[in-house]
Amino acid sequence: MDAAAPPTELLPAALRVRRHLHLAGGWTEPSDGDVIPVESPTTGEIIGQVPAGTPADVYRAVAAARAAFPGWAATAPAERAAHLDRLHTALAARADEVARTIALELGAPLKLATRVQTGLPLTVLRDHVALAAQPPAEEIIGNSLVVREPVGVVGAITPWNYPLHQVVAKLAPALAAGCTVVLKPSELTPLTAYLLFDAVTEAGLPPGVLNLVPGTGAVAGASLAAHPDVDLVSFTGSTATGRRIAHLAADRIARVALELGGKSANLILADADLGAAVKVGVGNALLNSGQTCTAWTRMLVHRDRYDEALDLVATAVAGYRLGDPLDPATRLGPLVSAAQAERVRGHVERALADGARLVVGGPDTPVPARGHFVAPTVFADVRPDSALAQEEVFGPVLAVIPFADTDEAVAIANNSRYGLAGAVWSADTDAALAVARRLRTGAVDINGAPFNPLAPFGGYKQSGLGRELGVHGIAEFCELKAIQR
Ligand code: NAD
Repeated sequence: MDAAAPPTELLPAALRVRRHLHLAGGWTEPSDGDVIPVESPTTGEIIGQVPAGTPADVYRAVAAARAAFPGWAATAPAERAAHLDRLHTALAARADEVARTIALELGAPLKLATRVQTGLPLTVLRDHVALAAQPPAEEIIGNSLVVREPVGVVGAITPWNYPLHQVVAKLAPALAAGCTVVLKPSELTPLTAYLLFDAVTEAGLPPGVLNLVPGTGAVAGASLAAHPDVDLVSFTGSTATGRRIAHLAADRIARVALELGGKSANLILADADLGAAVKVGVGNALLNSGQTCTAWTRMLVHRDRYDEALDLVATAVAGYRLGDPLDPATRLGPLVSAAQAERVRGHVERALADGARLVVGGPDTPVPARGHFVAPTVFADVRPDSALAQEEVFGPVLAVIPFADTDEAVAIANNSRYGLAGAVWSADTDAALAVARRLRTGAVDINGAPFNPLAPFGGYKQSGLGRELGVHGIAEFCELKAIQR
């Protein structure tokens, strides 16, 4: 690759047409000819096409995963780790192509697509190579030897917002545990999954260990979730779909792992470094155009610092330039689809109707004429019970809410049916830790601490069931067996 070339010249002009499923170790013809077009959210043009997997395709893929399971489960941990290492090498060699594809099919700015969307899953995969090499932990409890065994065949169903990371966060721990997998990626961003399976082919994973069936949620996704031979359905996506999948799995008492939505709170206490708290808080809320499940979409600010914080928020948001994801000056790309942009605009209209005070953005702010753009928008004086403070928007919309004391801040933060993430800012780190312990969420970051890809990731309440990543993520893909002696 010529590093000096402008980003647009890095893109192949041809449509990215992929015609196959990946089953039993190779590219395979789908059972019928239906296709799913892939749209550029930046231009609205069709940029690619993948097969629309059918229930018959899902059945073939699950059969391949089932056939591969005994061999993979019995493979020595060091050998499984070596396979993951080869997959990491093959994927890393495609990092630029993956990042460009994510910029194209999702609309993520190229820098974000490179550093976060591609860089993070590469880190996760590398970290799981080391974890996979360790034999599963065993315990002695009284006269019992307690061992961990892989749960079996995993059906992985993933969303579009982090099209590589959400996939790797399932595949890496599942393979490390000794499970085999059928992946059904989002129909909005399937091209990224194809690049991963190019790497799978090159890495030479044993046939059937990883299988790919693209398709719609209603057909391929539902078939996978309902399949009698899938032992665990690992799903990331909306709470509404997660509920449906849990019902389908309940019919056969299959296990489910659900990573769902969020409405996370960023608590800025009176003694916080306000400049850092607002800058990082706005960046977090707008990351990936707000299409991030952990986004801190409620900024809770102590009344003594409220007006100052609103000024800083407006200044920070003004620095986010909307535009073509391939333009290096762009900080915010479009939303993934026309439907998503319409949903987000609906939330903005509703907030206005509910009396929230518009600080910046809103429906009259100009945005690029082509593509699914929504201006970054901030509301102040948002009532904690209003729709904007309760509903997941999944777009670049921030609600700022004042509080009088820490108890009120914690009460507002916990007044949510979600419980995925959150943040606390204070000059007193012990005080911040005490507040973090009171939040009913799966993760809390103090003073902008970095994301840890080995820490358990998942939600309380309607944000999900189970945890991904690291040793806790691998444990999700294991059964426990007690052997009495
Ligand atoms: P979605 O629920 O519409 O789709 C997610 C996946 O489920 C897609 O692959 C889709 O094809 C499939 N699907 C849809 N209907 C299905 C059905 N009936 N049966 C089986 N599969 C089905 O979600 P989305 O719009 O792709 O993603 C956005 C949502 O995902 C947001 O609500 C966001 O908060 C959530 N999300 C959560 C996390 C997390 O880790 N907690 C991460 C990313 C996204």
